[in-house]
Amino acid sequence: MAPIQWILIILSVFALSLDAAEWHYSGEHGIYEWPNEFEQCGEVRQSPIDFPKVEDMTYSKMTPIEFHGFDDPTKYRLKLENNGHTVKVSIESGDVYIEGGGLPGRFKTAQFHFHWGHSGDEGSEHTFDGHNFPMELHVVNYNEKYGNISNAATQDGDGLAVLGFWYQVSDHDNYALAPLINELSHVPVKGSKMDLTNVNLGLLLPIHMDEYNPHFYRYSGSLTTPPCFQSVVWTVFDNKMPISSAQLHMFQTLHEDKEIEGDHYLIDNYRPTQPLNGRIIYRNFEVTSTGPVEQQHQQAQQEVAKPKRKAKINVRLHLED
Ligand SMILES: [Zn+2]
Repeated sequence: MAPIQWILIILSVFALSLDAAEWHYSGEHGIYEWPNEFEQCGEVRQSPIDFPKVEDMTYSKMTPIEFHGFDDPTKYRLKLENNGHTVKVSIESGDVYIEGGGLPGRFKTAQFHFHWGHSGDEGSEHTFDGHNFPMELHVVNYNEKYGNISNAATQDGDGLAVLGFWYQVSDHDNYALAPLINELSHVPVKGSKMDLTNVNLGLLLPIHMDEYNPHFYRYSGSLTTPPCFQSVVWTVFDNKMPISSAQLHMFQTLHEDKEIEGDHYLIDNYRPTQPLNGRIIYRNFEVTSTGPVEQQHQQAQQEVAKPKRKAKINVRLHLED
């Protein structure tokens, strides 16, 4: 057989394998077919999950997560891309990483992306006690000991650390999101990409949260898209970030195809919650029978004129944190 024929055979086999890797949220190759087409999507430590009530989580004392290199845009290069599944910002170069917070090592930040719905009622991947949020941000970080993200993503348990942040609809624009949202019109269709300048990750991500150690939830799970590798240490923060309906609309008018014709909007790009299968969910804050300790601490401060015994106990617990 002539070499050219071999090349054609190799190319067609390669094209078939690309076809096999195709997936969508609905229709052909949709969510309910993932477990048949990607083995790990049907395993027992899948994400996202519905977080139970805080009383049903396990307290674990963890240090705050430390964010390094996020605040200086002169030291990293960002690329914005519509990949047909989401809008993704990749960190092309720069020393941006997280550590602490009970994470098993130092994790280099590779990219972040969003999941959203077709309305303001749903769109988040993780839910809380059955409650959906309109959008969820995922910051994807890989364990430095595995060298690169592709290798880390295939490791069992500790390859990736993904941070999840929920949004809630607000009457006002979130100005921290504006520099990114202003560029969305430049990536309207699948495959469009551009360099992203003037975006400060430190402002975009809610790492300047008021609290020293914001409340978060921790569990062991997976990528929420095929091939659903079970390599993720998940951290989902309780603080919700604001987004206006107009800003959300900018995400909802992106297209999932390479063409604008057909009006296939990139919406509802979230996976339903998966069974816990006995996994333990941790929280980094203590609660009493009536709620998180810190809330009660604030209440105790407000009610200082008429001190209650219960409030005093809560203040003591808070100081022991
Ligand atoms: Zn995601």
